[in-house]
Amino acid sequence: MALQFFNTYSREVEEFEPRDPAARPISIYTCGPTVYSRAHIGNFRAYIFEDLLQRHLELRGYKVHRVMNITDVDDKTIRGAREAKVPLSKFTAQFKEAFFEDAETLRIKRADEFPAATDQHYVDRMIEMISVLISRGLAYQADDKSVYFRINKFPDYGKLAHFDLTQLQSTGRVKHDEYDKEHIGDFALWKAWDEEDGDVAWESPWGPGRPGWHIECSAMATALLGDEIDIHCGGVDNIFPHHEAEIAQSEGVTGKKFVRYWLHCAHLLVDGQKMSKSLGNFYTLPDLLEKGYTGREIRYALMRVHYRAPLNFTWDGMQEARQALIRTDEWLARLREKSRETSVQRSTSNVQRPTQEFEEALDEDLNISAALGFLFETIRETNRAMDRNELDASSANAWLDWWKRVNNVLDLETEAEVVIPAEVAQLAKERENTRREKNWRKSDELRDRIAALGWEVRDTNDGQKLTPRASSG
Ligand code: AMP
Ligand code: ZN
Repeated sequence: MALQFFNTYSREVEEFEPRDPAARPISIYTCGPTVYSRAHIGNFRAYIFEDLLQRHLELRGYKVHRVMNITDVDDKTIRGAREAKVPLSKFTAQFKEAFFEDAETLRIKRADEFPAATDQHYVDRMIEMISVLISRGLAYQADDKSVYFRINKFPDYGKLAHFDLTQLQSTGRVKHDEYDKEHIGDFALWKAWDEEDGDVAWESPWGPGRPGWHIECSAMATALLGDEIDIHCGGVDNIFPHHEAEIAQSEGVTGKKFVRYWLHCAHLLVDGQKMSKSLGNFYTLPDLLEKGYTGREIRYALMRVHYRAPLNFTWDGMQEARQALIRTDEWLARLREKSRETSVQRSTSNVQRPTQEFEEALDEDLNISAALGFLFETIRETNRAMDRNELDASSANAWLDWWKRVNNVLDLETEAEVVIPAEVAQLAKERENTRREKNWRKSDELRDRIAALGWEVRDTNDGQKLTPRASSG
């Protein structure tokens, strides 16, 4: 079956037809972090969805060229630097570093390029694009010295967001705050310097100032990926005005269709509200690591729901993620053991060989819920077959090979064997003896002592299992 994606532009699920996959890689542009503080896990939901997209395209044999920008100049970064009394570049450097550290913990593949908005090379390109827009009547300098995009001159403005511009229509000039824009919806391409900006300024034909956020992405996307891009992603909050503006600016300059497929992920919510800095209802990755969750558990928790469905963040959800990975780990350990068996017994089970169901689910607009559903059904059935001794070593190997393929997309395998501290191992051994003696009181007491050392002991058919405990939320 062909790959399909829901395109925000058409509001339809469309068959994926990249421009020229034989001659060049699939180009993907993803809006990156604004580095004025540490990203929260809501932001990382967006980056994990983009990671899943890239990995699935690669599983399907495509080469991918991905760019993610770093917004290191805007009102918030300038304010932050001013308050911290440090230069802008020093202020943003710490959050860039934190972003890369968190992305690595979450096993997010690095983009091929991470252009920064303050790079003179890109500022030059932004200035060049703005000049072209002015020369075509698509932009103008207002009395406040800033340059604005003239949305009335771009008939397609509003098409991505399916936004009815007549609601914003105005005749003549309107005063909007302190700005003198022609239309209330006109957005800044170049922001004239003011005192609040301190020493943050670039020279331009319109006087000193700095670029607007939207033009950054148009300039960096087209500079690195060309005028026509296969896929552009972000969270749904990016659709308007950011991505709408990117289309107007880029197409206003190149005259070509900027993006073929627009993919947007729904938000990570807390109690039904968007996780965001402004609401203060956010967690950063270190917040969750401190509670004892691992990068792969958080990755799983953020990935497991279809990207277009809102996902509510809960501690129960984190526990479910942990349980799902314990099941996967145990299944893999069991399969590995089975694969080493030398008996001549043949498989009689109906789960001898893997099918394509996992990747086919992802082909359908990255239906990760269905793909994971299939994974856990597989785990259940192959475990049952192993319980009944109906799965032979060669089938176990086939499933392990299948897992390798699946894990190229999910990247959820445990990194290393968990090392159990000697003291914990000793207590667990004692507990095994007390249980054999049916001394349940003592056994529970030992469980508590093990828990106090940060480990959870579970009793399974194969004996005790030890796992590191998360502190409760
Ligand atoms: P920002 O740093 O605010 O520009 O956001 C970076 C990325 O995170 C953008 O693609 C946003 O759409 C996305 N984003 C922000 N908040 C959330 C959230 N609560 N859930 C999912 N994505 C989000
Ligand atoms: Zn952007």
